[in-house]
This record gives sequence, C-alpha cells and structure tokens, in this order.
Amino acid sequence: MDIIGFKSFADRTIMDFPEGLCAVVGPNGCGKSNVVDAVRWALGEQSARQLRGQSMEDVIFNGADGRKPAGLAEVNVVFENDGSVTAEPYAGLSEIMVTRRLYRNGDSEYRINKMPCRLKDIQQVLMDTGLGNRAYAIIEQGRVAAFIEAKPIERRLWVEEAAGITRFKNQKKVSLRKMEGTRDNLARLQDILAEVS
Ligand code: ATP
Repeated sequence: MDIIGFKSFADRTIMDFPEGLCAVVGPNGCGKSNVVDAVRWALGEQSARQLRGQSMEDVIFNGADGRKPAGLAEVNVVFENDGSVTAEPYAGLSEIMVTRRLYRNGDSEYRINKMPCRLKDIQQVLMDTGLGNRAYAIIEQGRVAAFIEAKPIERRLWVEEAAGITRFKNQKKVSLRKMEGTRDNLARLQDILAEVS
C-alpha cells in the first residue's frame, strides 16, 4: 500500500504486507488505525463516520508540526489476484492496483491499474473476493461482537459474500429490472396495437 496525504501520513509512505501475520505496533495516537482506514477508504468506503471522521475531507492530511495541510489524499492498494477476481478485463491479471484520490475542493478519482474508472467498477472487481467495502477482510474492534449480535439477514450477507454469490445476486437484480422494463414496453405495444387495429 502506498499512502500520500492521507490522515497522519503527510509524506509518501509505502507499506508491505507480506504473507502471513502482520502487526502494526506503536504508541497511542501514532496512526495505527489510520493504516486500516487507508485500506478501507481505497477500497471504496463512502461513510466518513466509518473512517472516524465527520466529513470525507477529514481524510486529507490537515497539517501538523508546522506543516501545511495537503491538497490531496491518495491511497494505492496493490493486491495479488489468486483467481478470486472474476470481473473482466481484470480476471487474468496477477496483480490489481486500486487507487483513490480526493482533492480538497471535493473532486475525487478512482483508478484500477492506473486507468480512471468509476467506484462501481472497483466494487465489481472486489465483489465476492471478501475485500469489498464492509466485507469481512477487515475485522476491526467490535466487529466480532457485531457479527454475533447481527440480525440473521445481516449475517447472511457476510455468508453470501464468503460463498461467492454476491455477484450473481446483483446480476439477478439487474436482469429482473430489465425484465420489468421489457414487460412495460410490451404493455405499451399492446396498447398501440389495440389503438391502430
Ligand atoms: P490508538 O492506539 O490510540 O488507537 P492509533 O495509533 O490507532 O491510536 P490513529 O487513531 O490511527 O492512532 O491516529 C490518530 C492520529 O491521526 C491523531 O494524532 C490525529 O491527529 C491524526 N490524524 C487523523 N486525521 C488526520 C488528518 N486529517 N491530518 C493529520 N493528522 C490526522
């Protein structure tokens, strides 16, 4: 992960997460949770509150120790594709880089492998990998309790993501919407036919 101007990371910071167990250690308030916030933000988190801020602009380095606030926050997350990513045209790639940028004037950018894209594209790529926003790759404080206390319907969403069927549920929703549209068109056609015959 590559962070620039995000929360307490004013300077470009590169972090490697090798296979196995990684630990982020440091004194209180040094920025450990900001590392997790950076991953979650890059993967598409839309709620400032989930990132422990009031507005999304709070993720931009706000100045400290005589340093001026940054004009832009950028996080790049590169992850290995072990075959979990099935969305085209990324399915065959061994590495995928997701980029998110936010400028102080509110402009934002998303990229996949350096190519500008929509948030929706990032969500599609991450779907069923467990890495998506609110998926189970990041288990923060209180999340285990939240899982246990969740309503069955909420718990089911996690299970569905792990089982890899979120993508199909979404495709079904899109298809049902199309069928609805086609039914409406047919009804309109029948009306016209009745009028002209
Ligand atoms: P703890 O161990 O207490 O949970 P932590 O190591 O997880 O702490 P974080 O909560 O990640 O620490 O980081 C908090 C620090 O990040 C604070 O010093 C805060 O001032 C700084 N910080 C948060 N947002 C910004 C920002 N936009 N600009 C500059 N600094 C920021």
